[in-house]
Amino acid sequence: MIKITNYIDGNHVEPVSGLYLDNIDPSTGQKYGIIPDSDNEDVELAIAAAQRAFPLWSSLTIEVRSEWLLKLAKGIEARMDEFVNAESQDNGKPRRIAAIVDIPRAIQNFTFFSQAITQFASESHSTQEAINYTLRQPLGVVTCISPWNLPLYLFTWKIAPALAMGNAVVAKPSEVTPHTAYLLSEVCKEIDFPAGVLNIVHGHGHKLGESLCTDNRIKAVSFTGGTVTGRKIASMTAPLFKKTSLELGGKNPTIIFEDCDYEDMLKTVVRSSFSNQGQICLCGSRILVQRDIYDKFKADFVDKVSALKVGDPIDDTTSVGALVSAQHLEKVQSYITLAQAEGGKILTGGNRLILKGRCENGFYLQPTVIEGLSNDCHTNQEEIFGPVVTIMPFDTEDDAIHLANGTEYGLATSVWTQNISLAHRMANQLDFGIVWINCWMIRDLRTPFGGMKQSGLGREGGQEVLRFFSEPKNVCIKY
Ligand code: NDP
Repeated sequence: MIKITNYIDGNHVEPVSGLYLDNIDPSTGQKYGIIPDSDNEDVELAIAAAQRAFPLWSSLTIEVRSEWLLKLAKGIEARMDEFVNAESQDNGKPRRIAAIVDIPRAIQNFTFFSQAITQFASESHSTQEAINYTLRQPLGVVTCISPWNLPLYLFTWKIAPALAMGNAVVAKPSEVTPHTAYLLSEVCKEIDFPAGVLNIVHGHGHKLGESLCTDNRIKAVSFTGGTVTGRKIASMTAPLFKKTSLELGGKNPTIIFEDCDYEDMLKTVVRSSFSNQGQICLCGSRILVQRDIYDKFKADFVDKVSALKVGDPIDDTTSVGALVSAQHLEKVQSYITLAQAEGGKILTGGNRLILKGRCENGFYLQPTVIEGLSNDCHTNQEEIFGPVVTIMPFDTEDDAIHLANGTEYGLATSVWTQNISLAHRMANQLDFGIVWINCWMIRDLRTPFGGMKQSGLGREGGQEVLRFFSEPKNVCIKY
């Protein structure tokens, strides 16, 4: 049994209440550890510690803070296998994926922002009368809240820039996947990371949310998670005029034109649909295919999807692991039932899988492809966040834009065509924060990252996030 504790003021501490929650391994359905069921008293200790640590941390030189971030990166790297195993066990994702995606990216988040902060610059505006310059100063104590789908990857994507900019952090990982955040706190201990600069409180979001988001010592809230939770957070922070960054859900369209590079498209669309069991906010869940190639695509896609191996995450030949929890499996299954009630036809998948041996009680679902639904039905409008996609034909460029933009979400889209003019026209008219042309999930950490419409508010990445985690102050000097 693995016992996780909070990390406050440089120490691993029990929750004040002494209460713990079970931590379940989704690949087996069995309890494998306990995590603090923290409450407001723990948050209070964390905020107070961060408040004490902020003056010293923010006054360190950029070079020194940059060095600390590099030490965190190296600390994770030194325990790579442990991090990989923990991420896979906590989340149900194939260990192979944790090893090539999640943990390397968490390391990269720290190395990237250790460098980005040394390149961060502010503006100067000059007239004949005066010169203005912008001071960008750290905010103070900030809250970072992250979800369960890419646990350490998204946790560090917030923490690294917040720390680099000179803020002190109170962070809450998802209670469903707390393990790698705990290992990160062990790394902090190992490298003697300054006490109180990073504090990690584990537990239920609905219990901790209010104190994490409304305390007047918290200067900004950076949140990644579902749109419903994002709305709750916005309703708490907006009346307080607290800086808030929201990275929320999506219902991303993959748009396939008949002139695309077919083989490259097919291979990538299988990945963009089912990577991480479809539990990536950027996965394409509505596949729009130009009518001329619809039947061919349908046959080839279904062939490839039905050949994906669903299995034990520790088996290196597994493509699709377990869904994150029993509750989430139930939610995704309910959408498959709804899709059928809405007139959808299941082309492949649709059922829970019971594996043999150690995984017999795990939360596995066949990758599922559905056709025959209208764009405005619930299945095509609501985020399912699992290994379930729909396919729909379209005729013209205008039809594709209309269908693609026809949801409340606007996170990411990918467009497949060899026609460069068409690609530019599509990019111009699609209402999404991220438009991939002839690719998916190529990430450059300098680019603005985030969604439009109900997919969020603000952008992460590069200079954008360093601006978010700082307060601009204009200084005007008369000549
Ligand atoms: P949730 O919104 O349920 O939870 C996200 C985080 O918020 C968790 O740490 C959760 O804690 C916490 N939380 C829950 N309620 C509150 C509250 N009232 N106040 C403050 N914090 C709260 O999302 P999921 O964890 O289910 O993650 C999946 C969602 O995340 C999907 O919608 C997905 O699209 C989105 N996502 C968006 C990304 C983006 O970049 N736009 C990237 C990745 C995911 P707890 O776990 O204890 O409930």
